[in-house]
Amino acid sequence: MNIILLGAPGSGKGTQGERIASDYNLDKLSTGDLLRAEIFAKTELGNSLKSMIESGLLVPDEVVISIVVNKIKNQSTFDGFLFDGFPRTLEQAKALDVHLTELKRSIDLVINFEVSEDDLVARLSNRYSCAKCKASYNKVSHNPKVAGVCDYCGGTEFYVREDDKPEVIKKRFVEYKRLTEPLLAYYSSSGLLRSVEATGDIEQVAKKVKLVIDKEILS
Ligand code: AMP
Repeated sequence: MNIILLGAPGSGKGTQGERIASDYNLDKLSTGDLLRAEIFAKTELGNSLKSMIESGLLVPDEVVISIVVNKIKNQSTFDGFLFDGFPRTLEQAKALDVHLTELKRSIDLVINFEVSEDDLVARLSNRYSCAKCKASYNKVSHNPKVAGVCDYCGGTEFYVREDDKPEVIKKRFVEYKRLTEPLLAYYSSSGLLRSVEATGDIEQVAKKVKLVIDKEILS
């Protein structure tokens, strides 16, 4: 089963993606995580994309497509892929279809996370992450169980993403509306799109997402 998570920045794709991937034995493929890893490792690619990502722009299609194609071509022990943050443009969506077809695979389900823009801004402005394992927290609604200690890896250093700063958040929304929102029509026309109202706490949203996936598996 191959699933795509769609939604504006801050809609919870990353957090829910972790759970879905582990519950359904899927290989989570987050292009944002992969690109940030390149930046942290100061690779040539990371250095060349740093300012673009930190200013809220999408990186060129050919860069992300080649990263994703390399990943999906490699044999995987998982039952499929969970795409988080990819595709983000029509060009990427079409390229993904072509490469999956070559591998005799296809997308089975696209879940769109619906959240109002006010909620998204509030979430992104309060977001911070563990410096070690990159787990994501929220100053208002989701802090570590023990203050200052990451729930997942015990890390004690945290940081705010450059692209979660207010002026950059605005630009990311503009990019989302211009380039990514058209994907809703693309996947709706192929009958793959399901929407989930992604407000409420993490557990509530996880239940809604699970219902959508289980319904698809049974159909
Ligand atoms: P994310 O963590 O998914 O919000 O991604 C963070 C940033 O990485 C985005 O704002 C883009 O600059 C870049 N990025 C991630 N995925 C893609 C993609 N599929 N296409 C283009 N840029 C991407």
